Amino acid sequence: MNGDSREATSLYQVSLLQFDRALTWVDGLKAGMVDAFRNPRRTTHVHFPVSMDDQSVRMFHGFRVLHNRARGPGKGGIRYHPSVDEHEVAALAAFMTWKTAIADIPFGGAKGGVVCDTKALSRAEKRRITRRFVIALDDSIGPHTDIPAPDMYTDAETMAWIYDTFDTLHPGENNRAVVTGKPIELGGSLGRDEATARGCLYAAEQALKRGLVTDLDNLQDATVAVQGCGNAGGTALRLFHAAGARVIAISDSSGAIHARDGLDPDTVLAFKKEHGSVVGIPDTTTITNEELLALDCDILVPAAMEGQIRADNADAVRAKIVVEAANGPTTPQADQILAEKGIVLLPDILANAGGVIVSYFEWVQNLENQQWELEDVRARLQKRMIKAVDTVVDCWQAIQTDDRPPHGKPTLRDAALVTAVKRLATVTLQRDIWM
Ligand code: NAD
Repeated sequence: MNGDSREATSLYQVSLLQFDRALTWVDGLKAGMVDAFRNPRRTTHVHFPVSMDDQSVRMFHGFRVLHNRARGPGKGGIRYHPSVDEHEVAALAAFMTWKTAIADIPFGGAKGGVVCDTKALSRAEKRRITRRFVIALDDSIGPHTDIPAPDMYTDAETMAWIYDTFDTLHPGENNRAVVTGKPIELGGSLGRDEATARGCLYAAEQALKRGLVTDLDNLQDATVAVQGCGNAGGTALRLFHAAGARVIAISDSSGAIHARDGLDPDTVLAFKKEHGSVVGIPDTTTITNEELLALDCDILVPAAMEGQIRADNADAVRAKIVVEAANGPTTPQADQILAEKGIVLLPDILANAGGVIVSYFEWVQNLENQQWELEDVRARLQKRMIKAVDTVVDCWQAIQTDDRPPHGKPTLRDAALVTAVKRLATVTLQRDIWM
């Protein structure tokens, strides 16, 4: 997997390295404030019993990490995975703090997880785990304190169970805003499903408009390779195609497919639904995920998982711009290699913020008992993504020539983190949080 055994690829290491590096361009932060931003404010561990379908009782371990709440209630998904741990969740919670600050929405950062293998659980067992988890978390979550959302192996149905359990424990209140990513009928927002990929599309369009990529100022006929074909990647395929780009490759965990003339999204998504993989679609060439990352294309969209572009394969990347739909797909060493090659990278905390932006819209609609039209949601998302990209690009241009050894010149990821840290520092000082 990793050509350099010393390379930091765990999300936790990566998040700290990125943060420490970006601080180089933030002057005047007190050491105590840096420590507060580096560490989660609270980590809640819970152990809870669940009765299984075979009448046995099993203990489960879950946690919720609240990284920071200075800008508003904690916000972040809940992940069900056998290998999820406190460190991974802490890194993802920190990403959420930076993401909500860059998007300028009134939330902090949080994330949660339960150690379990949903593939080995029945739907009823997953439901009982979810309900016991919410009961065990007690008042750690709430519409104005910490608001969960879906993440790996949790979905709208899981969010409905979270809402129902919390609502049962807190009767007589409008509790819909306790969780986002709910089914539409239960207060979910139109456009939430496509929000992450749509946000990536708007971010890419604005970055091109700002002239970040030589000889490419719009998506018309731009060639795109997408790694991953789930919620983020599959929707990116559809939306980039609809915007006039030519998606020439896409992959999943079984492999990748390539078609120089472009893929038809309906064919790809229907085939994937029927066969479980994109591999084998007629008139496409099967390639590996590594080969996809190295394709000659204009735009590369990593939309699968963390640690995909590393020191051992970054030099092979030939795209002009990388748009990170996934969280943490590029390691810090790979960031430097891409920068040296002149490849522009729109970082995850900017590029994939569309999901949490529409989650914020859902929260607002819930508090106001409203349902916005889909076109309204899209227009509001576009406005916020354009503003976020402009803010980060402006910050980057302002510090671009500020070469600070040993880090060299700042990247767009550095500029995004600088933007977020400064915003967080401002409200932290205004609130006089340490009294
Ligand atoms: P998903 O589970 O729906 O899809 C993941 C896809 O990646 C699947 O097609 C899977 O087959 C593929 N995949 C897994 N391992 C792979 C590998 N080694 N090589 C190539 N493909 C592989 O997940 P998702 O919701 O689309 O999330 C993908 C990434 O985007 C994650 O990093 C997630 O944290 C991030 N993200 C998602 C959202 C969202 O709203 N869905 C929001 C922000 C960030």
